[in-house]
Amino acid sequence: MFKVFDGHNDVLLRLWEKPAHERVKRFIHGDNEGHLDLPRMKKAGFAGGFFAIFPPPEASSANYSDPNPPDAPPLSRAAALAATLGMADLLVKLAAESAGRLRLCRTVAEIRAAEADEAVAAIMHIEGLEAVGEDLDGLHLLHAAGLRSLGPVWSRSNVFGHGVPFRFPSSPDTGPGLTAAGKRLVAACNDLGILVDLSHLNEKGFWDVAELSDAPLVATHSNAHALCPSARNLTDAQLKAISQSRGVVGLNYAVGFLRADGGWGRDVSLDVLVAHAARMIEVAGENGVALGSDFDGADIPDAIGDVLGLPRLIRAMEQAGFGAALIRKITHDNWLSVLERTWKPEPLAS
Ligand SMILES: [Zn+2]
Repeated sequence: MFKVFDGHNDVLLRLWEKPAHERVKRFIHGDNEGHLDLPRMKKAGFAGGFFAIFPPPEASSANYSDPNPPDAPPLSRAAALAATLGMADLLVKLAAESAGRLRLCRTVAEIRAAEADEAVAAIMHIEGLEAVGEDLDGLHLLHAAGLRSLGPVWSRSNVFGHGVPFRFPSSPDTGPGLTAAGKRLVAACNDLGILVDLSHLNEKGFWDVAELSDAPLVATHSNAHALCPSARNLTDAQLKAISQSRGVVGLNYAVGFLRADGGWGRDVSLDVLVAHAARMIEVAGENGVALGSDFDGADIPDAIGDVLGLPRLIRAMEQAGFGAALIRKITHDNWLSVLERTWKPEPLAS
């Protein structure tokens, strides 16, 4: 069985929306809801991945199954702080109460050690940094708590920049680039060895990071704009820049970013996922493509269903002629090697 390292999941949000006393139990013993819990991850060969802390919209009435929902409004810092601390707390608690079966990892060495012990390796990631102000107060604290990856914006605007709204069909070039605070944030992430995730940035923001950052360019969960012209997907020029920086893009299973018609029906065949992977490999190279499921964060194809469908996706890659060496890169090795090029080898001394 190929083990899978994954670029994006929202299981923390799924659990955080449950009553507090149920959250840890649901994950560790399994609740068979949504796409992920620890027993199913183990069964499917899910070795680890980026666990997103995503502060959701306040009182959302938007329906993201609509290909063109209204733009998401800005999120207050107070709401973002509550959600960000709540989900960070939950991740630490899951690791503490899992008897070593889920580990919060801050270095690639820690990921490899977790894998050797057959524990699931979790990277703390924040998707939308509204909890941190323009002075970056809070960033160092979060880093000390284990934060190793962040998207400055989700698909909304904040003090750092402008997220790409959910539009179809649309170019990702939807507005201005990073703010001055956003540029300071990229420099701080470079210094701390925090990965900067480009998946929800608009195109001008993407090019600002490309110009400023000394780290590889990474989009943890995005697809090929050439096959599905959603504003959330990456153009060939963006994929090429990722490749030139020795970065990675993670294949997103969200149906609205896969389907050529931009719809949100879950009747999407595995061939469509394989076609996006093939197209991104064609442009970004075999070392530039990995997986970024969006499990528990989006509607995914019924052909996958939940994490237990991963072996079916891998079989579809094999049937399309992807060899074992390439599949190992896509499902695991490309993530670990880009983290090696991005993170500091050891946690910074305090
Ligand atoms: Zn996302």
